[in-house]
Amino acid sequence: REKPSFDLSKGHQIDRNVWFTDKDENQALSLRYTGDVLFDETNPFQRVRVLDSYSHGKFLAINNMVMCTERDEYHYHEMITHPVMQTHGNAKNVLVIGGGDGGTIRELFKYNVDNVTMVEIDEAVVRASKEHLPKIACEFNNPKLNLIIGDGIQFVKDAPANSYDVIIVDGSDPVGPAKGLFTAEFYNNCKNALKDGGLVITQGESPMFHEGTFVELNHCLKGIFGKQSVHTMLFHATTYPSGMWSLQVAVKGSKHPAKDFNKDQAAKFAQDKGLKYYNEDLHTAAFSLPTFVKTMLGDN
Ligand code: SAM
Repeated sequence: REKPSFDLSKGHQIDRNVWFTDKDENQALSLRYTGDVLFDETNPFQRVRVLDSYSHGKFLAINNMVMCTERDEYHYHEMITHPVMQTHGNAKNVLVIGGGDGGTIRELFKYNVDNVTMVEIDEAVVRASKEHLPKIACEFNNPKLNLIIGDGIQFVKDAPANSYDVIIVDGSDPVGPAKGLFTAEFYNNCKNALKDGGLVITQGESPMFHEGTFVELNHCLKGIFGKQSVHTMLFHATTYPSGMWSLQVAVKGSKHPAKDFNKDQAAKFAQDKGLKYYNEDLHTAAFSLPTFVKTMLGDN
């Protein structure tokens, strides 16, 4: 694949001007890509593409939304994994819903887990990622992985009670098959499937871009786990619209994920594993919310 050799400061012309745009009615985030379409399949669930951007390397898109880019994927994958894993401290049985690009399981296998079950509805996401994003999709052959191609909503409904230490909901935005990942029924079933002391974390959309969904999901979780047991995190996701993204953590127990973790252990882990976004200070800081976000959530 050819990369551009233009330099705008030297008056070169832009020769390929193809943009991928992730947008709602009023706002958008765009990445200019080379025009090379590395993967493009539409199936009954969604359209899955891998494109090659100028600024962020190759990226996975589902429908018209950026799921992850080579350049900044670690922001999301480290933050959806390490705060809950460090808070738990000894998670052995982990369930991932969605996550077909493989970034979350890559982070999970940095721990001494017994098993990770991943339920991804669309095998095309796994196939596209293995083929084109090998640095992200690098743990699919791990013998501790139980990969199930199926509906995570149904899976959690059928899961035996008290089965998992941590559940990570690495799903897409609430359209198509992911709609049900934003419902009370789903999180009631997650709570049932969690062991006592377990934690569930879910990507919670953007307070700036999707205020309605962001607030509804937080309130939904509070209704199930109790107000004191639901905690909102923010982090920088440079290729998600608005750049400000949230994660919701709900605890089946009394731990406070911003405080009740071993800071020294987290620091050592982050250093030993060469993490690039997560560290022990950010673990706590990510739970500190701007006042306008607290107001949105009714947390002040
Ligand atoms: N990082 C992304 C983001 O927030 O933009 C999300 C990751 S992407 C890998 C989400 C995955 O969830 C997709 O591969 C999609 O196929 C999967 N998914 C959506 N609905 C699902 C469901 N009901 N059960 C299992 N997987 C689902």
